[in-house]
Amino acid sequence: MACRELSGVIWVSRFPGSVSLSDLAPPFQDYANAFIDALKAAGAVVSIAATYRPLERAYLMHWSWLIAKAGQDPRKVPSTPGVSIQWDHQDDEGEYSSERSIDAAKAMTKAYGIDTLAIAPALISRHTARCAVDMSIRWHGALGILSADGSHVCIAEGPKTGMNRQLHMVGATYGVIKYNQRGQDRPHWSDTGA
Ligand SMILES: [Zn+2]
Repeated sequence: MACRELSGVIWVSRFPGSVSLSDLAPPFQDYANAFIDALKAAGAVVSIAATYRPLERAYLMHWSWLIAKAGQDPRKVPSTPGVSIQWDHQDDEGEYSSERSIDAAKAMTKAYGIDTLAIAPALISRHTARCAVDMSIRWHGALGILSADGSHVCIAEGPKTGMNRQLHMVGATYGVIKYNQRGQDRPHWSDTGA
């Protein structure tokens, strides 16, 4: 058996995710740039939390969450290329320890900032495809913003955040679609809404 390294927070700094728009794939990179430029020109404050997420990072987030939060057996996690992690820990007698395994996974979910999520982060997503951006958007007063078609839109109603429905329509003109799947993913925009 290959020499594997035990799960734990040491993994979290590996396979880092990007917050740079330049790590997105064309043409979505251009769409996201244009939409965010329009937001900033309108006076909104935009803070990007995530763009590209490597598959290895998605794997570590997904399985640590399932072990920590959903009763996944650490001994039955499938392996993935390039990530030599040992999810199941042993006690001092060399027996399998579910407690140590779960504690290590919990520490990872905390360090990833995913310990309060209601569902597991996806193994494959628009982030791993370089076609998604997580960002917070805020403004004061009314937001006068240009659509991609050149028309001027005045958004007077709230909320004054990325959850504003009028803003979702403006984003769509740029090809930047607000999350439209089950549940809520407040900061998430992508090429498809997934
Ligand atoms: Zn996202």
